[in-house]
Amino acid sequence: FKINIAIDGPAGAGKSTVARKVAKELSYVYVDTGAMYRAVTWDMLNRGIDAEDETAVLERMGAIDIELVPGDEGQRVWLSGTDVTDEIRSLAVNRTVSRYAQIEGLRAELSAAQRQMALRKGVVMDGRDIGTTVLPDAEVKIFMTATVEERARRRFRELPESDEAITLEQLESEIAQRDELDRNREVSPLVCAADATVLDTTNMTIDEVAEAIVRQADL
Ligand code: C5P
Repeated sequence: FKINIAIDGPAGAGKSTVARKVAKELSYVYVDTGAMYRAVTWDMLNRGIDAEDETAVLERMGAIDIELVPGDEGQRVWLSGTDVTDEIRSLAVNRTVSRYAQIEGLRAELSAAQRQMALRKGVVMDGRDIGTTVLPDAEVKIFMTATVEERARRRFRELPESDEAITLEQLESEIAQRDELDRNREVSPLVCAADATVLDTTNMTIDEVAEAIVRQADL
């Protein structure tokens, strides 16, 4: 039988790399909920719809269709028929996504879609509010953390080459700002669920973290 695994934590804690690995080992489906918030943000930026204009954001939401397609080289993200997998990792999206993610109606829509994906179990889902709000009944809940310095180093290595130059220090301060917004927003903020296992991954390898999670899922 299958269970659901919820993995939450701040940016760059290693959630997606680990979640992908755990999903592969268990033959589960990996769902990157951050990619959904990013795809929405990418669309809004393209259309010039500011996060302040909630009415326009919510109206536009109705026309947005996001698809997460599992593949050999990781999940591809499609937005209304266009592959935006690389675009949604840009600095422009990094800098604005947390502002869109504060909008309650937007979160309600994405959360509902995420719950649908987990209905038949066998899902490893990562994000900020999975263990607390999206899948409060997930059988395994993990809260991954790492120092902000280590998280910035990890994200630095993932930046698209085509993007503007940014220093590690700048990236660190931008990550800290995003965490701050995610932690302090009113709707489903980034908090550790009371029944989650906390893993500080600063000095752990990806394999070690993945193994710790698979062990919990086996119980
Ligand atoms: O995980 P990732 O860094 O790609 O997420 C990007 C942003 O999307 C987060 O900083 C957060 O603002 C938002 N997010 C969220 N809830 C989730 C996943 C992501 O608010 N479940």
